[in-house]
Amino acid sequence: MHIVVCVKQVPDTKIIKINPKTNTLDRRSAPAILNPYDAHAVQAAAGIKEAAGGEISVLSMGPPQAVEIIKKSVEIGADRGYLITDRAFAGADTLATSYALSKALDRISKEHPIDLIICGKHAIDGDTGQVGPGIARRLDIPPITNVIEVTDINKETRKVKVKRKIINGYELIETEMPCLLTVEKEINEIAYSPMPNMIKAARYNPVIWAVSDLEDVDKTQLGLKGSPTIVGKMFTPPKPEGGHMFEGAAEDQVKQVIDVLLQNKELFSVN
Ligand SMILES: Cc1cc2nc3c(=O)[nH]c(=O)nc-3n(C[C@H](O)[C@H](O)[C@H](O)COP(=O)(O)OP(=O)(O)OC[C@H]3O[C@@H](n4cnc5c(N)ncnc54)[C@H](O)[C@@H]3O)c2cc1C
Repeated sequence: MHIVVCVKQVPDTKIIKINPKTNTLDRRSAPAILNPYDAHAVQAAAGIKEAAGGEISVLSMGPPQAVEIIKKSVEIGADRGYLITDRAFAGADTLATSYALSKALDRISKEHPIDLIICGKHAIDGDTGQVGPGIARRLDIPPITNVIEVTDINKETRKVKVKRKIINGYELIETEMPCLLTVEKEINEIAYSPMPNMIKAARYNPVIWAVSDLEDVDKTQLGLKGSPTIVGKMFTPPKPEGGHMFEGAAEDQVKQVIDVLLQNKELFSVN
């Protein structure tokens, strides 16, 4: 059982500032972190490994500093890490990102056949949620998005059963491996990393590949050249106005909230 988790280095969007003059993200204003959904994806892989055995690889496309998030993934439980990094990948949109990652997955698969690929639901910076399904489409394997639980993995029948979040509930889906899952945060809690993992991570050096290490790559589909997306404008949405702060003891605040609700009951009427 070989699970590959795709992990992205992102700026911490809780802290990042937007440059008001250029309307672009000031990436220097926030530390780079492992995309939180991808941390849950690695943790999910670690849970599957514990139940069904096997090994976990992580794959990232990014600048050389992205080595740090591969080390973080090893802390959580990955056995091996790959970083594809090359100027030719720079400026990639989701189409070019999924193309480059699928070519790296082709190479990994030749060396260690892949049973399952896991991605985060979305990256907290780009926020499209397109890369996972894009990889699945390129590799011609089934994608299941918004997974909140992997309920069964059967190595003999090569079937995977998962719970997938939908509005007002969930779906139970079964599919065949190899397949690709994208996971929600609800899938697990990130456990404290065991000390041996932390020691391994501190010393770990991932496999690093440039474009020339990948096979059958059409360079026109990489990086900015291979990216048809045009970002028209970026802006900070205006802060909502008209908020009201309730003050006083908790009991008084509850009374005040009830008064407001009663005064505006036509807004909240339920048939
Ligand atoms: C013209 C243009 C230029 C851009 N230039 C850059 C740039 O130079 N640098 C930059 O960082 N972004 C750049 N972006 C943003 C880029 O489109 C996205 O960050 C990237 O394609 C991933 O999309 P996303 O963030 O929406 O990921 P999502 O689709 O929301 O991510 C879903 C999941 O896919 C996986 N994933 C996504 N990206 C990666 C990755 N790189 N490696 C491994 N797994 C991944 C993760 O599991 C993640 O949880 C550019 C965008 C445009 C339109």
